[in-house]
Amino acid sequence: MSRWSNSWKKKNQTIGFVPTMGALHAGHASLIRRARKDNDKVVVSIFVNPAQFGPHEDFSRYPRPFDKDRALCAALGVDLLYHPTPEGIYPPGYRSFVNVEELSELWCGHFRPGHFRGVATVVLKLLQTISPERAYLGEKDYQQLTIIKKMVRDLNLPQRIIGCPTLREKDGLAMSSRNQYLSVSERRDAATLYRSLWEASEQIRKGSAISLALKDARKKILSVSNSRIDYIAAVDGLSLEEIKHPRLGARLLAAVWIGKTRLIDNIKLSRSLRK
Ligand code: AMP
Repeated sequence: MSRWSNSWKKKNQTIGFVPTMGALHAGHASLIRRARKDNDKVVVSIFVNPAQFGPHEDFSRYPRPFDKDRALCAALGVDLLYHPTPEGIYPPGYRSFVNVEELSELWCGHFRPGHFRGVATVVLKLLQTISPERAYLGEKDYQQLTIIKKMVRDLNLPQRIIGCPTLREKDGLAMSSRNQYLSVSERRDAATLYRSLWEASEQIRKGSAISLALKDARKKILSVSNSRIDYIAAVDGLSLEEIKHPRLGARLLAAVWIGKTRLIDNIKLSRSLRK
């Protein structure tokens, strides 16, 4: 990988990088298209990173349709598909990890201890190996995007991290590789997550208190059968700390279980917020 990267750099060609875990969908494709537009060369990584899964999470059953992913990358004009093995990234005796403190402990970090340490570590390793000018991450994983931006700033990495908008299904459900775990009825119910977030953001925009809007959203989500809420909160867009009153750049973040599938989503609180 680094030999390819070096050979492009010698020719002054810029590299755009899209890290993924595969099972690619239109959301990933939108990141790849953006990288294609901005750079001479595009690298996509597919790596189901064991370090970011907890012991009882879905690492082994995470979908791995590699041939289909490779065909999509080829069709999108990806120059290099980087598909390392777990031992390639974490050889025996591997001991170095990156932890972005505080941000990694909030929200998903609370429910998935060690998750963001695994994410930050692998992204740092990939940035070191590929050495791109720009890396493209989705706002769909808003906490992850915030943590990677913070790591890049704190560690003086030369990369620009570019956040890209969330692609959604027609009913609003954020596209995700994990959506394929949902049964037909769960898939129908899953749209409630985005609808509730959107309705809460509208209520807040019209002047309703955050606490009231979130209470309504919770009720709507819990009316879905077999649903459970890990969290739903309004947060500052940079620190991710909970806020009680709307402010510029604020977001609503949520993680919800529908049956055995954990879904996350988030939405920006409108810019035209009243004081
Ligand atoms: P994943 O393969 O789920 O680890 O995601 C790889 C990258 O794609 C991450 O930066 C995600 O935030 C981004 N991504 C995932 N789903 C979407 C989506 N629906 N829209 C835009 N980007 C997404």
